[in-house]
Amino acid sequence: MNRTPHTNSYYAATANQKTDRPRLTEALDTQICILGAGYTGISSALHLAEAGFKVVVLEAARIGFGASGRNGGQLVNSYSRDIDTIENNYGPDLGKALGDMAFEGGNIIRERIQKYNINCDYKPGGIFAAFNEKQLNDLKEQKALWERYGNDQLELLDADQIRSQIASDRYIGGLLDHSGGHIHPLNLALGEAAAFESLGGQIFEDSKVIRIDRNENSPGKRPQVFTEQGSVTCDYLLLAGNAYMGGLVPELSAKSMPCGTQIVTTEVLDESTARSLIPNGHCVEDCNYKLDYYRITGDNRLLYGGGVTYGGGDPASIEHFIRGHLEKTFPQLKGVKFDYAWGGDFLLTMSRLPQLGRLTDTIYYAQGYSGHGVTTTHLVGKLVAETIKGHAERFDAFASLKHYPFPGGRMFRVPYTAIGALYYGLRDKLGI
Ligand SMILES: Cc1cc2nc3c(=O)[nH]c(=O)nc-3n(C[C@H](O)[C@H](O)[C@H](O)COP(=O)(O)OP(=O)(O)OC[C@H]3O[C@@H](n4cnc5c(N)ncnc54)[C@H](O)[C@@H]3O)c2cc1C
Repeated sequence: MNRTPHTNSYYAATANQKTDRPRLTEALDTQICILGAGYTGISSALHLAEAGFKVVVLEAARIGFGASGRNGGQLVNSYSRDIDTIENNYGPDLGKALGDMAFEGGNIIRERIQKYNINCDYKPGGIFAAFNEKQLNDLKEQKALWERYGNDQLELLDADQIRSQIASDRYIGGLLDHSGGHIHPLNLALGEAAAFESLGGQIFEDSKVIRIDRNENSPGKRPQVFTEQGSVTCDYLLLAGNAYMGGLVPELSAKSMPCGTQIVTTEVLDESTARSLIPNGHCVEDCNYKLDYYRITGDNRLLYGGGVTYGGGDPASIEHFIRGHLEKTFPQLKGVKFDYAWGGDFLLTMSRLPQLGRLTDTIYYAQGYSGHGVTTTHLVGKLVAETIKGHAERFDAFASLKHYPFPGGRMFRVPYTAIGALYYGLRDKLGI
């Protein structure tokens, strides 16, 4: 049988297990069906299985095939738009509700790793690196904001201190979040999938959902989903296909936009070179609108990502595109050999806030983490399980965020958004 492989990444090459779950070829009946085996799908599945629910996950390709098996691996706290924006745009109550959850996702990941003994190269500590005074002042405000919401693990770095953390002359300071960190993302997804299966959960790979019958007017409102060779009828359906779901659910694709971002890994560096770059092994993201993110992997490669392609997909040469960024940050690595280069799509919303809600009483969706989804997807898994158990307050706080289509409609949303990004890029360059 021809199966869709994982993208040719460093992560796929160093995965703890090769996935080989069966394709769905029968008609199943279950309590919960989940479309998509990324973090949103698998973390929800695991929370639900822990609560005793019978759960079936349908994955179009493979576990972690999408962003969850390809990302930078950075556990970044809070959301792609920070809590102060939520307070200002949606009011103090919603700001507080979401702010109170902003650090939970990272803790869930650490608990999962411990509880299920998941080997995914976890290392604590993430640095936000500032190029100019404006960005450093923003980081000072971020520190005060996050402390207000209970994060007491933050450390401001001046120019000398950040130079001792990152062997680059580009930054004038930064913020170290000791409760951030990094992981091998595909191995986290595979470990969580195995934990879910150990509790009786079922995952079918190569089983793309091609049709959804909402059945909202039938008794019980039980949805039914169809793959090429099978179907699942369920009490509740969760849509967790994110940027890879295409136009299957038009109301969701109308208010979100896939975006590509790309990553390379160098060849294995000798231990002393790897240590010289980031001596304490933290991960780094810079403060630009289109940001660079990087870290040292478990086997001493520099993993470096950056850029955004609006509309999704990759530039003609990922290596060429990223090399310029990497060598500007670390000129001492000029000409270093790259072993892997890949891209992946995340899902952007206009507000840059996650898009959670219900299509009907029995069909939920969660998507659109806008580039910062490793921790939030893990929070969301818990919220989905809480909701199905009858406690919807926290899910509904997210669901109350209004989402709008991108300006320009399907034809012009990509160029319009790219022009907006150019403007913000210029502000970064000018430090305003
Ligand atoms: C290159 C890259 C780097 C990133 N770096 C970071 C980072 O360092 N830190 C961070 O916080 N965030 C990062 N992100 C974002 C983060 O990875 C995502 O927000 C998160 O993984 C989204 O998880 P998900 O489960 O919602 O979606 P995905 O992981 O994309 O999973 C969706 C799954 O649904 C499946 N699917 C889609 N349609 C169907 C269908 N019809 N039937 C069945 N299955 C279907 C797909 O095959 C896929 O496996 C990055 C993203 C990318 C692409």
